[in-house]
Amino acid sequence: MKKIKVNLKKIEDRSYDILIGEDILKKIPLDLKKEKPAYSYVIISDSVVASLYGQKLLRAFTSSGLNSHIVSFPAGELHKNRDTKARIEDEMSKLKIGRDSCVIAFGGGVVGDVAGFVSATYNRGIPYIQVPTTLVAAVDSSIGGKTGVDTPHGKNLIGTFYQPWRVYIDVITLRTLHEKEMREGLAEVIKYGVIRDEKLFEYVEKNIDHIFSFNSDALIHIIKSGCEIKGQVVELDEKESNLRKILNFGHTIGHAIENLSDYKISHGEAISIGMVAEGKIALELGFWKLDEFERLVSLFKRTGLPTKPPDSLDLSIMINTMKLDKKARQGKIEMVLPRKIGEMGEVDGNYGIRIEEKLMTRILGSN
Ligand code: NAD
Repeated sequence: MKKIKVNLKKIEDRSYDILIGEDILKKIPLDLKKEKPAYSYVIISDSVVASLYGQKLLRAFTSSGLNSHIVSFPAGELHKNRDTKARIEDEMSKLKIGRDSCVIAFGGGVVGDVAGFVSATYNRGIPYIQVPTTLVAAVDSSIGGKTGVDTPHGKNLIGTFYQPWRVYIDVITLRTLHEKEMREGLAEVIKYGVIRDEKLFEYVEKNIDHIFSFNSDALIHIIKSGCEIKGQVVELDEKESNLRKILNFGHTIGHAIENLSDYKISHGEAISIGMVAEGKIALELGFWKLDEFERLVSLFKRTGLPTKPPDSLDLSIMINTMKLDKKARQGKIEMVLPRKIGEMGEVDGNYGIRIEEKLMTRILGSN
């Protein structure tokens, strides 16, 4: 036998900058021109964001002399699917978008996930830039490189890790969001406060009105803190082998609630209920104290987020759903639990903590 080695061991630098500011949309093309610009840019957006801001961004690109196009798809989670991905790819092929192009993912988390996944596979991968326009996308989905689409069998089942080349966040674009969308993002921001940053938690407690009135300084502050936390965690554990699990606080129970309500309960609402229930488990196991737990419940109430699961949810079905969650290990339910506001607990060096079914049943049944 003759042996030839294909040596692929290499160190790759996939670091990227997140730039946050007020009214920075129009500055993006000029900023990109300072670097090695792509031959052409494809702005991928959804119908809502495209009609609100699409022309503004496209004009900024074309007036800077950059060859650019916009491709949009109908807004909403229903369209985060393989058909949408294929349609975008076909449109890009018709526009003769080549390997020397760059995608601009312009919208909420749905756009970011779809456009990121398109970029990961189009021509075997082209760079993409995230320009998030929801609070959820700004503090969560635009950072970390998880991309993908839903299938009839579940959410985010097909996808890949593919890091963006850069992230630009213009807080002015958030001003057209409904209060409900702001609450969705705030659930994640509050989660960041609990898992890693007590000062951020306190800032939200003190500035909730400023946040809801779209005060730019308040938005820049919480987005910057949120991005720093997600960025740090992803840096230390990109593929979720241990530390990245802390980002799932509230998600073990939250995902089951979201799933069983047929997504009528939104992600932000479900994880708030999840964080409260998982917080109760942490209390029961002596991880944190009652006053910390009560601070969390009180902030969710002031934000307008729910803290209890609806009575209609069947407990045993809920627990079975958690066992099927992709984060469950050998059918055992795993979750992350806070030690105090700003710090998560570990058991034997692991953040993922196995929870006895009996305890789950008791806590969830006690609502
Ligand atoms: P979304 O993208 O559906 O946006 C919510 C709604 O707001 C949509 O109708 C959208 O058109 C509209 N919208 C967006 N920006 C707007 C603006 N500036 N003004 C007015 N309306 C605007 O939902 P989302 O909450 O941003 O994101 C949820 C998605 O993100 C889910 O698919 C979820 O799975 C995904 N996600 C991914 C990650 C990740 O790490 N990749 C993390 C969290 C969430």
